[in-house]
Amino acid sequence: MHHKLLFLWILALLMVACGGRPPAGPPNTTADTVSNNNVNTTADIPNETSANPDAITVTSARSICQGRNDFSQIPAAYVAGLTRYTTLNTHYLVNVCTEDSNGDGRADYMVVESTDQPEHESIYFPEGHVHHEPFDFNTNIYKFAAVYTNQRAHSAGNNQIEEQAIIMKMPITPRAASNKTATTYDTIGLALNGVAFFNENAGPGDEITEELFTFDQCSGHPQQQGTYHYHVDPVCLIRDLGGDVLTETSTADGTGYTWLTDAGTNAGLLLGFLMDGFPVYGPLGATAELDCAGAAVSTPIDAFNGHEHCTAEFPTGIYHYHVKTANSGGANNPVFWITNEYYYGEPGTLGR
Ligand SMILES: [Zn+2]
Ligand SMILES: [Zn+2]
Repeated sequence: MHHKLLFLWILALLMVACGGRPPAGPPNTTADTVSNNNVNTTADIPNETSANPDAITVTSARSICQGRNDFSQIPAAYVAGLTRYTTLNTHYLVNVCTEDSNGDGRADYMVVESTDQPEHESIYFPEGHVHHEPFDFNTNIYKFAAVYTNQRAHSAGNNQIEEQAIIMKMPITPRAASNKTATTYDTIGLALNGVAFFNENAGPGDEITEELFTFDQCSGHPQQQGTYHYHVDPVCLIRDLGGDVLTETSTADGTGYTWLTDAGTNAGLLLGFLMDGFPVYGPLGATAELDCAGAAVSTPIDAFNGHEHCTAEFPTGIYHYHVKTANSGGANNPVFWITNEYYYGEPGTLGR
């Protein structure tokens, strides 16, 4: 018994360490945000607020988009991809706009703002919430059996999904960085539903292979400030985007478990963007990835989990990441990390 309690104690400490950054300071209402949220409304994608009176928008005083979408200065090549942010999560709006941070009349950043609350079910929404759904954490023993077989399933303690005000600024002209920047243990990108992407690392002293067993039914979990995030293939988002998922089941000790897995055919499915402005697509499967022209892609995946070719959203070609899977992750990287240790491009900034 003592051994078990000690284990739980250590676990609690590790969860606190998970994402251990200090709370954001008070909002700064004077800085850096007001130069580009006005004027050209003709190119706007319609704001969904009117169609969804209950919709919740980013409320941070530092908000750049101010609850609206403004594509007037989004580079043409990015319009199709970034528009996807504005169409999926109708309950919690995700907004896209630009920022002219130095006031020269030209946008410097593509901005995506989100409250970081998924459109899908989670046990980490408070009970009574429209998206709250129970989940048996023991399911993860079977769901992640290929990765780790001697682990105890458990919840992420008292952590719950809480409304955030994430402001992701991506360079207006994403390009490969000559000196690569390490990804941090924080939001490194945003999925198309506005949920934060985290990297493959856990907080100091923690192991991501242990964190796996705190994931909810959609393979995400909140850290202690309530920031919900994906480290791995976001199966429910893939389902909600119209991608291919499979339902798996297992019965053990008379209990049946059911979970979603990636069908392995979602390599062409856009899932979101990292802070360097490069898109994230679904994992490569057993069959060849097809490019925008339907041709098999042979360009290998590099050390940053990505490569370059044309896609449906970027018909002239773009560097992009692919989520790794248990089948395509490599011997020392057996799960589905969104990215490796470094950004391929120069990352923009993260505001709140
Ligand atoms: Zn985590
Ligand atoms: Zn690809």
